[in-house]
Amino acid sequence: MSENLASVRDELKPQPGRLFVGGSWLDWDEGRFDQINPSCNEVIASIPEAGRRGVDLAVAAARDAFDNGPWPKMRAQDRKRMIQPVIDGIYAAADELHRLQCLDNGMPYHLTRNSRVSGSAAADIFDHYAGWIDKINGETYPIFSAASNMQYMTFRDPVGVVAAILPYNGPLYTFALKVGAALACGCTVVVKPSEYTNLSTERMARILAESDLPPGVFNFITGGGETGAALAGHPGVDKVTFTGSIAVGQKIYAGGAVDMKRLSLELGGKSAGIVFPDARSVQTAAKTLMGLCSTFLSGQICSTPSRALIHRSVLDEFVHFAKEQVASIRFGDPFDPATTSSPIISKRQVAKILGFVESGQEEGATLVFGGDQPGGELKAGNWVNPALFIDVRNDMRIAREEIFGPVLSVIPFETEEEAIAIANDSDYGLAGTIYTTDISRAFRVARTVRSGSIGINNYASVPNAPMGGVKRSGIGREGGWQTIEAFTELKTININLDA
Ligand code: NAD
Repeated sequence: MSENLASVRDELKPQPGRLFVGGSWLDWDEGRFDQINPSCNEVIASIPEAGRRGVDLAVAAARDAFDNGPWPKMRAQDRKRMIQPVIDGIYAAADELHRLQCLDNGMPYHLTRNSRVSGSAAADIFDHYAGWIDKINGETYPIFSAASNMQYMTFRDPVGVVAAILPYNGPLYTFALKVGAALACGCTVVVKPSEYTNLSTERMARILAESDLPPGVFNFITGGGETGAALAGHPGVDKVTFTGSIAVGQKIYAGGAVDMKRLSLELGGKSAGIVFPDARSVQTAAKTLMGLCSTFLSGQICSTPSRALIHRSVLDEFVHFAKEQVASIRFGDPFDPATTSSPIISKRQVAKILGFVESGQEEGATLVFGGDQPGGELKAGNWVNPALFIDVRNDMRIAREEIFGPVLSVIPFETEEEAIAIANDSDYGLAGTIYTTDISRAFRVARTVRSGSIGINNYASVPNAPMGGVKRSGIGREGGWQTIEAFTELKTININLDA
């Protein structure tokens, strides 16, 4: 590992050796695995594998805290007061958290520290959900007919024990979205981060562990897919909130049928960035779309528009500026201010990306640049030079499957109808962006593209507005009131007013 990465790690002193269960830290020697830093492929920490026994202990603690503890029934003001120190703690540790996240997945510190996946953005998300605590209302209903004098009303009860399973690309962001919402609603939680990103999430866990939350309300375990599967399928879990790949999402969906688990599934995407000839600036559109595939997380973001649908009249201009954008990227140490891009999380994911590059060429698309790996000092890390394909047809694999890496597939179109048809001809429906100055067209296209969210002349998610997918991109929404609905069950009470 580079001297700098080792010294940042030693300065931040991550403590990833334990599980937090039932209000105590457990030393765990029943299994361990190595966390590898993707920018150099060297071991950065040894991590406990919770396995089935760790899952059983954590779920039992969360179950007991839910069934017998004060948390689900706590008065709104008291629950809010208990979460406030957690929010303050995350703000206070925001930079440390973010640096640990950069150690985890190699995202460039200087470019991301004020972004929506930063430490302070995680605190903002907790803060947003804490604001709902005293506003989780039910409804009352007018008495329906003269046949009976019954009054009906609804309450929103916490959904129960929540299993929160996180991906590697935005560990702090997804931790906050899931744990912040579950706690605000009075649920108890077992959270498991991705096996690639334990350091930042363990620091978050320490902030929660140091708070006055009752024992068992918050539990933190680490491990890989088997631990995840044991957690998702555990009979003591009432709801699974999962962000990750469609393949794992499908398994969780199928397994959840057994005991009718409540599910929120935030899965992958193959979103379209549509550039019309009346876009205010083709240059901005090209630099943004290519930038999302080459800088920041190097295309490892679910909402990345990895299909660029470009009007034929501006195609050459788009390719010119995409090429110009890529000239400015720099790989390397995540803490070097010059670094613009993340490494790919694993060697396996690198092989998958290179396989897609090969398949694009085999199927007849033209590779304009990239798609290979840099040499020299960078050879040790998981770096892939950003790739741009033109002459892409929407039936090619590079247009249909989520690559989750630095590959942009350009598909030309002639008419608005054609652009909409291509955008909608996808198994996915997560996000997308439309570039045009025609407000009528912007609304028309935004309303017709089948996706959970879409941007006009830019795209960004915020904590207080819903985000999620249609079709295979998932089930449910995260952000705002819709999340509160997803972590509560409606209870209808009816009262005989004549008794
Ligand atoms: P992944 O599916 O490989 O892993 C996600 C989590 O699931 C990890 O914690 C992993 O350990 C766990 N897991 C693995 N097998 C499991 C099983 N059988 N049962 C239960 N849990 C299991 O995903 P990833 O590679 O970490 O993340 C990338 C994916 O996440 C991409 O597809 C991306 O689009 C998606 N994503 C979606 C959103 C969104 O909001 N829709 C946000 C971020 C990432």
